[in-house]
Amino acid sequence: MAEDCLFCKIAGGEVPSTEVYSDDEFYAFRDIHPMAPTHVLVIPRKHIPTIVDATPEDAALLGRLLLKANEIARKEGLIEDGFRYVINCGKWGGQVVLHVHLHILGGRAMADALG
Ligand code: 5GP
Ligand code: ZN
Repeated sequence: MAEDCLFCKIAGGEVPSTEVYSDDEFYAFRDIHPMAPTHVLVIPRKHIPTIVDATPEDAALLGRLLLKANEIARKEGLIEDGFRYVINCGKWGGQVVLHVHLHILGGRAMADALG
C-alpha cells in the first residue's frame, strides 16, 4: 500500500467504491465517470505505478489480472457482443491515477480508432 494512492485506498476500503470483485490479489470496482454502460476498473492490490514499472517478478500477476478481467467481463455479460480492455500509461497515455489499472469497457460499440 502506497501512501496517498487513491486506488490503494479504494482497494483497502478507506475510500468507498462500488465493488465488482475482490480477493487477496485483485480488486475491481465501477468507474466513477463511466465512459460506457459497463466500465469496470481492475487493479492489483500490489502498488505498481504504471504498466512499465512492472518487472519480471510481476509477470504471473499480470497474466492473472487479464484472466480475472475475462471472468469479470463474462459475469458482466460482455462476451457475446465484445468489449475493450484499456491500460493507459503516463501523461500522454492519459493515465491520471498512478496505480496500474485495467479498464473494462462494454455495453456499446467502441469507435474504430483508438485515439
Ligand atoms: P486513468 O485515466 O488513470 O487510466 O483512469 C483513471 C480512472 O479512474 C478514470 O476513468 C476515472 O474516472 C476513475 N476514477 C478516478 N477517481 C475515482 C474514484 O474516486 N472512484 C472511482 N470509482 N473511479 C475513479
Ligand atoms: Zn496504489
